[in-house]
Amino acid sequence: MFDEVVLGIEFFEGLTRIDAAIAGAVAAGGCLRCGCGRLHRSDYDRKPCGGTIGAAVETCRRRFSLCCDRRGCRRRATPPSVRFLGRRVYAGAVVLAACTVALALGAWSPKAVRRATGVPARTVGRWLAWWRGPFTATAVFVALASRLVPAVATADLPASLLARLAGDAKACLGVALRQLAPLTTTSVPDGSRFVRGVGDDPGPSGDPQKMA
Ligand SMILES: [Zn+2]
Repeated sequence: MFDEVVLGIEFFEGLTRIDAAIAGAVAAGGCLRCGCGRLHRSDYDRKPCGGTIGAAVETCRRRFSLCCDRRGCRRRATPPSVRFLGRRVYAGAVVLAACTVALALGAWSPKAVRRATGVPARTVGRWLAWWRGPFTATAVFVALASRLVPAVATADLPASLLARLAGDAKACLGVALRQLAPLTTTSVPDGSRFVRGVGDDPGPSGDPQKMA
């Protein structure tokens, strides 16, 4: 399903709308540190890569971010994102799709991984180690895993997670990215509460309940 997926401008525009809605929800809550400051947009530049799967991600050049307007606080709050998976240079959708393609290839062949994804095999290998290791210790995975019966095979992450979702490849990516979005920030605790409710925006669609 993911071996022929090409994520175009429309896909990333849909994710951008979701990110904007999440940022709006975080801003509406006000500053989490001082409790009385208003949060204003203070976006910053990103230069994401997409490999051959998501070359159009290069149109996503701004990570939405917020800053408290209260003197003496000025705390930055970077909302959860469905486009940027933390500080990784590659878009979150590409990390998910490239890892899934690499796992589907079976025997590890750096050349085949590079050819199929446009991402260096060493990079994909590093991502796969993260999915199987540190990711399984995150609150996001623990919460997801508690709802997945039978248990998801950690050795096959993230493919085993995507396989539990309904819809085509793009819809699955859209749902998974919303589930993973709380992982993409350290400055907005409990980010999932801001992601809930924005999933029905136009763009990558799917039913998050299907993962339950
Ligand atoms: Zn503040």
